[in-house]
Amino acid sequence: MSRVRKVHVKSFGCQMNVYDSHRMADTLAPAGFSETAHPEDADLVILNTCHIREKAVEKVYSEIGRMRVLKEAAAAQGRSIMIAVAGCVAQAESEEIVRRASAVDLVVGSQNYHRLPEMIARAANGAKIVDTEFPVEDKFEALAAPQRAAIAKRGISAFVTVQEGCDKFCTFCVVPYTRGAEVSRPVKQIVAEVERLAEAGVREVTLIGQNVNAYHGLGEDGAPSSLGKLLRRLAEVVGIVRLRYTTSHPRDMDDDLIAAHGKLAALMPYVHLPVQSGSDRMLAAMNRKHTRQDYLSVIAALRAARSDLAFSSDFIVGFPGETEDDFQDTLTLVDEVGFAGAYSFMYSPRPGTPAAEMADQVPAGVKAERLQRLQAAITWHQRAFNAASAGRNLDVLLEKPGKLPGQLVGRSPYLQAVQVMAPRSLIGQIAPVTVTEVGSNSLFGALAEETPAPQLAEAGA
Ligand code: SF4
Repeated sequence: MSRVRKVHVKSFGCQMNVYDSHRMADTLAPAGFSETAHPEDADLVILNTCHIREKAVEKVYSEIGRMRVLKEAAAAQGRSIMIAVAGCVAQAESEEIVRRASAVDLVVGSQNYHRLPEMIARAANGAKIVDTEFPVEDKFEALAAPQRAAIAKRGISAFVTVQEGCDKFCTFCVVPYTRGAEVSRPVKQIVAEVERLAEAGVREVTLIGQNVNAYHGLGEDGAPSSLGKLLRRLAEVVGIVRLRYTTSHPRDMDDDLIAAHGKLAALMPYVHLPVQSGSDRMLAAMNRKHTRQDYLSVIAALRAARSDLAFSSDFIVGFPGETEDDFQDTLTLVDEVGFAGAYSFMYSPRPGTPAAEMADQVPAGVKAERLQRLQAAITWHQRAFNAASAGRNLDVLLEKPGKLPGQLVGRSPYLQAVQVMAPRSLIGQIAPVTVTEVGSNSLFGALAEETPAPQLAEAGA
């Protein structure tokens, strides 16, 4: 009888990579691979890489170096470990990876991982495999469906990629080059995946895409669907009680999606809407295709549709040419919107992007000092937002056991982590929780009176 082989997938970067890592494991399951959390026990290690952060490529080579040590130790014991590099760095570096790192057996681009079983079989014969072309076939159609046990192990909240790629070409960003043009999955395919997740116990689905609200997949009626329409369809799936989506572009926030926030109970009132800068001059230099006022108008329209909507965002400080006045525009935007949270970074050049060639690069010290001021402003608003939860009853989707005995951890509608003493039978249920204490990273609460009896929660909408 052949030995069950083990795969360890190490995921870097965004939620799209986490989703891809799951789908790689799903696709390898029928080929006899089970997942392991320990690379030293694995027959196959996949590094699912991210190209977004500074020095991403060098970090990948350091990680390959660590895996090479494991590979050599296994070889000394007569065992082999195959090393695969996947994701955006694989896409961008392609053959250069096997040239620079001889320990790597295969390189698989972000559109090709459905071919992994076949590539592994070829690499087992000693060939170095590099597959980073953008194929014509539909990757999602070719992928093996996740097994029920694998879904259950991943918890009650799942990501589903509905859109990939980007046509926006912001001048600082590598995504249009590493992930290619915008492609949307058909509604039917997404509904089938979400139904499968719901049947295996998933209660919350976050639709993901680099430009998720540019979604335009083929609808069940044969016409292109919008994200708003897709969300309305998914809210009908029995068992799915919460829907979220990320990451959005302000320009693609259409009336239909805005209206969905007012009408769809399952659609959570928390929107991640990157703005990057509050200065029109910087937004133009970044090729963001929206102004500060456009962004504020979208926020106002969303709040008009649902008054309790909370927002998070992404910011870049020290983009080439940014002056103190430009930076002040960012600070005033933060105050104007009052974000519940945000990610902020110092600009760092990505090779191959237009901004990397721009004159007027801002000195590192200035960038660091601005980042500190921006983060202080963001933190102030985040704390104010969380403090306003004290004493409120929030609907919390209970996800898993907490650190303390008898404790469960869940999420509020606004994505805040909430810790509460509650029976395990409530995992997967939405329970009203009275917030008793506000910590720096999570809220603490007690089950409110009207907590439901353990049973399958009803579908949203
Ligand atoms: S819209 Fe987002 S993914 Fe597309 S280029 Fe701009 S920052 Fe990158």
